[in-house]
Amino acid sequence: MSNIKETVLEINLAHLTHNFKYLKSKVKPHVKILTVVKASGYGSDASVIAKHLEKIGADYFAVAYSSEGIQLREAGIKAPILVLHPQPINFQILIEYRLEPSLYSSRVLKEFIKIAVSRDQKDYPIHIKFNTGLNRIGFWENDVDHIIEQLDRTSSVKVVSLLSHLAASEDHNEREFTLMQINSFKKTAKEISDKLGYTPILHQSNTSGILNYPEAHFNMVRTGIGLYGYGNDAKYDTELKPVAALKSVISQIHMLEPGESLGYNRAFITSGFTKTATIPIGHADGIGRQYGNKKGFVTINNKRAYILGNVCMDMIMVDVTEIDCKEGDEVVIFDSTLSAAKIAERSGTISYELLTAISPRVKRTIIDDN
Ligand SMILES: *Cc1c(COP(=O)(O)O)cnc(C)c1O
Repeated sequence: MSNIKETVLEINLAHLTHNFKYLKSKVKPHVKILTVVKASGYGSDASVIAKHLEKIGADYFAVAYSSEGIQLREAGIKAPILVLHPQPINFQILIEYRLEPSLYSSRVLKEFIKIAVSRDQKDYPIHIKFNTGLNRIGFWENDVDHIIEQLDRTSSVKVVSLLSHLAASEDHNEREFTLMQINSFKKTAKEISDKLGYTPILHQSNTSGILNYPEAHFNMVRTGIGLYGYGNDAKYDTELKPVAALKSVISQIHMLEPGESLGYNRAFITSGFTKTATIPIGHADGIGRQYGNKKGFVTINNKRAYILGNVCMDMIMVDVTEIDCKEGDEVVIFDSTLSAAKIAERSGTISYELLTAISPRVKRTIIDDN
């Protein structure tokens, strides 16, 4: 008997522990582990994930926005929290919550120093982000002198780390480009460290950097997707365990005659007698319309049931003509055997997008086997 009574996202903490240990085993013992819990812990529950990670030895946390960091502090997280992409409008509150900004341009560095000074800060921890080829966010190599000039004028801040981000660490065809990024970061890190008079923590690797580029581990690595059980590579996927499982139930079963239509815009017309199951999950829950019209499927009693017609806001209808099932039966959208990466691939996207799209109205259930 299934214990699933509605749409739920199960969060398996034993899997999280397994993934954390696996990733940690890939780096030398002195290398710190920064765990990325942005976007609600990749669509799960940032507070639950961060508390568990803090307990099992994560050294640092990272989020994208200041508001996400505040949420973690309010949940009681004590470890340092790096805000990867803060905006100056939030610098006051960022300091109030003792969050650490990644500063990526002269404009934001200047703005941050101004606010740190006005709040009488001394050696407030900051991180300097360099662009080495992703061309998304970060100082350029030739900004070093300008950064040092700004830092020399104040004692309100202290650089605790230098970071950069790899553009294609999961793509083996881009090895040359990645090695260029690593060398560029090394060179810039040395130049700025010499001028600072000490070497801050250095970090450049995301999950795929950890797995594919030991030369980019430096003394800290940042892992997001790997913690949640995905290695961007079949080889690593088998070693990791997906943390989140999305499940639901059959609300109703219908028997349709040949030639009947189903759902909005009558997008599906039956060609024969068709048994359909309606499931309480739709695009407002994170199952995008691109999964409609048989692009996506769910699993019912270990069989594939394809999505018929358009995905509705709160429901999908699936084909169960050949499946022995009844109302109330469990439905699996993804779990640790049928991973979110595989489901995502069917609609041309990636695990990251499918996971982070699961909306807050989906109930989270914590499975803690420890
Ligand atoms: C999101 C993010 C990460 C985590 O990347 P994964 O591929 O999920 O491990 C690391 N660093 C930065 C700067 C990020 O934005």
